[in-house]
Amino acid sequence: MDTDVLVVGAGPTGLMLANQLGRRGVRARILDRHAGPSLQTRALGVQARTLEIYSHLGIVDRALELGKRATGANMWAEGRRTARVPLGDIGRDMSPYPFLLILGQDDNERLLGERLHQWGLAIEWNTELVGLAQEADQVIAKLEQPDGTIREVKAAWVAGCDGARSAVRELSGIEFQGAPYEHVFFVADTRMTGPMVPDELNIYFWRDGFHLFFPMRGTDHWRIVGIVPPELRGRDDLTLDHVIPSIRDEAGAALALQDCTWFSTYRIHHRRAERFRDRRCFLLGDAAHIHSPVGAQGMNTGLQDAYNLAWKLALVVSGGADPALLDSYEAERIPVARRLLSTTDRAFSLVVSDTKLAGLFRTRILAKTMALAMRLKRIQRLAFLTISQTGIRYPDSPLTETLPGLPEAAPRAGDRFPWLRLKLSANGPTEDFFGKLDDTRFTLIVIGQAAPPAGVPGLGDLLRTHVIPSDPANDRELARAQIPQPAFYLLRPDGYVGLAGVRLDAAVVTRYISERLNLDAAIARFR
Ligand SMILES: Cc1cc2nc3c(=O)[nH]c(=O)nc-3n(C[C@H](O)[C@H](O)[C@H](O)COP(=O)(O)OP(=O)(O)OC[C@H]3O[C@@H](n4cnc5c(N)ncnc54)[C@H](O)[C@@H]3O)c2cc1C
Repeated sequence: MDTDVLVVGAGPTGLMLANQLGRRGVRARILDRHAGPSLQTRALGVQARTLEIYSHLGIVDRALELGKRATGANMWAEGRRTARVPLGDIGRDMSPYPFLLILGQDDNERLLGERLHQWGLAIEWNTELVGLAQEADQVIAKLEQPDGTIREVKAAWVAGCDGARSAVRELSGIEFQGAPYEHVFFVADTRMTGPMVPDELNIYFWRDGFHLFFPMRGTDHWRIVGIVPPELRGRDDLTLDHVIPSIRDEAGAALALQDCTWFSTYRIHHRRAERFRDRRCFLLGDAAHIHSPVGAQGMNTGLQDAYNLAWKLALVVSGGADPALLDSYEAERIPVARRLLSTTDRAFSLVVSDTKLAGLFRTRILAKTMALAMRLKRIQRLAFLTISQTGIRYPDSPLTETLPGLPEAAPRAGDRFPWLRLKLSANGPTEDFFGKLDDTRFTLIVIGQAAPPAGVPGLGDLLRTHVIPSDPANDRELARAQIPQPAFYLLRPDGYVGLAGVRLDAAVVTRYISERLNLDAAIARFR
């Protein structure tokens, strides 16, 4: 065997997967058919859940330094600013990163790519996957070099992080179900001045569509996304000069363009792979699902596919878990993709619909309704949970088990464990509990009761236990998160609750580890 995991594609998804495997000591290789990193910004929005993962990976400070926090979204209709939706800190109390970070895909890829070196991994550029043959215990991948030579690599597992036209998906015969949207989009990175509110999102609704202005790093630097006006559709020689008149119609004649560094048109599809796995091959990121850019979810979803699969692959490759653990990847991530496609599809249809009624709705009603709704705490919370991806849950996963007795409102198995600030020692300071979690291990959180005197047999060094001390500040924080006392939570390495209950019984935890996680091998090893 040449490698345990062959990661095909060095976009954000492949880079995240290779990093997560590398830091868990897995023998992995990552390759890409391009000659080097992409210089295009493409995705721009980094969500809170991604920043939480970046924090464990040690790249969050750099990301925050390079990016821009979007503090508000301004809605414009027919040249007038009609509403402002506050975005800054709408997720206060829900995440250490309660905002959307504007940071280009190229910067994200650079940070992830630099981190790879720490695990002794380097991207093999100019290497294209052109063939796959699956055998019972390995996959033989055919890789083509620019001079046409083909070499074979034997891998235990292959991860298809190779984008919308995924070769892994096609070679595995997995259907990519869905369709293209009829509209053609343009994207432009510009330096321009105008009535836009600086450093905030500016959304221009018009009768026939919309324009989005994202603030980018630097002064007067904006990313514009919009629909190609109907009279220009079908042309393949478009430049920003062609679409500028339609932008000026909406954003005002005062718009002064100084420079355009990137202009591209593209057709968006909404598609999902019918399966995310074929025996030893997996699909992640755009290879598994593509959708409209509404909500800045695409890149973030791929990063989280990778975070979900990495710890499972690492356990299986090390011999600690039965390969059955890998079935949960598809079981957890297909429902996420299905929901994402349907919500982005609905939102997208609303903002691009050509009907007169939809035009009126966009320019007269949408902006004001959104601004009013966002004043309600409950809506703010729901919007943050949805957009930031901190609200993604796996309630129907085979790894999810909530024991009887836990109140309905309490965090349950399948939820991302909530962000808490706790005192972890009797007279110690209040600390960010996420910062204390080791995401290469399982964590047992024991609340309002003592840890089992003999520990929890089963996971050995793979388990860390935190007993939350009794303290009035801790009581308030736990009550805020609706966590009862006593309670216990067993977290998976990716921060999701696997097992939750009231009274901690070590035997029940060991049974869960053995049955649900298929970690019998790990248990035997640590006995
Ligand atoms: C114009 C544009 C604008 C976008 N704007 C946004 C946005 O604002 N917000 C957002 O969230 N998303 C946006 N997206 C989507 C976002 O860019 C993707 O969701 C994201 O790139 C997915 O990452 P990925 O790593 O899964 O795939 P990709 O980034 O596509 O990476 C796949 C990699 O695999 C490599 N590869 C492909 N085939 C092979 C092969 N056979 N062998 C070896 N290597 C191979 C490719 O060279 C590539 O480097 C935009 C996309 C486009 C095109």
